Amino acid sequence: MTRMLIVGPAGSGKGTQSKRISEELGIVAISTGDIFRANIKGETELGKEAKTYVDAGNLVPDSVTNRMVEDRLGWEDAKDGFLLDGYPRNRTQVAALDEMLSRLGVELDVVLELTADREELIQRLKKRAEIEGRKDDADESAIRRRLELFDTETAPMIAEYEERGLLRRVDGLGPIDEVNARIMETLKS
Ligand code: ADP
Repeated sequence: MTRMLIVGPAGSGKGTQSKRISEELGIVAISTGDIFRANIKGETELGKEAKTYVDAGNLVPDSVTNRMVEDRLGWEDAKDGFLLDGYPRNRTQVAALDEMLSRLGVELDVVLELTADREELIQRLKKRAEIEGRKDDADESAIRRRLELFDTETAPMIAEYEERGLLRRVDGLGPIDEVNARIMETLKS
């Protein structure tokens, strides 16, 4: 049973690797970005609330995001472990997650950070824009904004997990299988 986070900038491969880890460890992968996109597509209330933020590459307000994650972590499939992809992204969300976990009486086992240099990230996002048609990948300013928010909001938050001794860094460069092998090796140790 594993409770973990996967963190890293846009284009670092969080989503791709999450799916693999989820299959290999038998835990549910919960992506806040995927939940927002599904709600935007379905034109739900949540989707209407999130759309302008997601399209511009801004963070959806913490109150909205925190509530959504708290609800999702309460589902049956998250009882015996989970992998959170894309949450938390700032210190406010870390505090909210800490509270949720303490209410559930559980703790995080590991925080996995995927790293890649800026040039590589931008190339990957441009390629993904052609394949998946995500609005925030096709728009240069939304890409820039997401990378900037990673530096100003998410990186300091990752440092907090490093201080807690939970952080494991994995090089996200290279073929998907290779990165996956590195991750599984790191999780074993
Ligand atoms: P990426 O890592 O490429 O930015 P995601 O799918 O993780 O892609 O996130 C897409 C968008 O969803 C973000 O730019 C943001 O608008 C919203 N989002 C996802 N997770 C969060 C979060 N934890 N807090 C606020 N907004 C979020």
